[in-house]
Amino acid sequence: MRIILIGAPGSGKGTQAENIKQKYPIAHISTGDILRANVKAGTELGKNAKEYMESGKLVPDEVIIAMVKSRLQEPDCKDGFLLDGFPRTKTQAEALDLILKKLGILLDAVVQLDVDDETVIRRLTTRRVCKSCGEIYNVLFKPARIEGICDKCGGEVIQRNDDIESVIRNRLTVFHEQTAPLIDYYQSKDLLISVDAAGGKDVVLKLLEKMKDVGK
Ligand code: AMP
Repeated sequence: MRIILIGAPGSGKGTQAENIKQKYPIAHISTGDILRANVKAGTELGKNAKEYMESGKLVPDEVIIAMVKSRLQEPDCKDGFLLDGFPRTKTQAEALDLILKKLGILLDAVVQLDVDDETVIRRLTTRRVCKSCGEIYNVLFKPARIEGICDKCGGEVIQRNDDIESVIRNRLTVFHEQTAPLIDYYQSKDLLISVDAAGGKDVVLKLLEKMKDVGK
């Protein structure tokens, strides 16, 4: 199965990617996670990306496209992949079309997680994440058992630098201007599956139901 997960920041892409992975064992490629790992490791890529990420801007297309191109050629992508957070611009989508064409691969579906801006702001200002393993928490709906400490690995649970309201609003503007047009792009290719993602735990059920014939 080869799919793209598309949605505003805070639409639940990371959470739903985990749910999809449990059902379909495919490579999960999160460009945000790859960039954050590079920032943490202090690589050249990380140093270049940091400022864009902290202000809620997009990292330049050519950097991201090269990163995804090489990642898609790793062996674990042979049996399928889930792209989470990529593409985010028309240029990235067109570059992906070319990369897949060269690799002789067809996309099966583009899953859109549809959620309104106010829900996003509420979710992201209360989101926390484990610095070590990436486990996602929420101070209202899913707090860590001991405040500030990850239930899973004992790591430090923090608020992401880009999860403060002013940056979230920038990220939403960027999403509406640059990423939302991709919904029509993939709709016109007859690949789009749209899921109402404003709810709670039932979102995953709706998502998996809509995905059950994908790739068949
Ligand atoms: P995310 O975790 O997907 O919300 O990504 C966090 C940040 O990483 C974004 O706000 C961007 O600065 C950067 N980023 C992630 N994916 C991309 C992408 N496909 N294109 C450009 N920037 C990206």
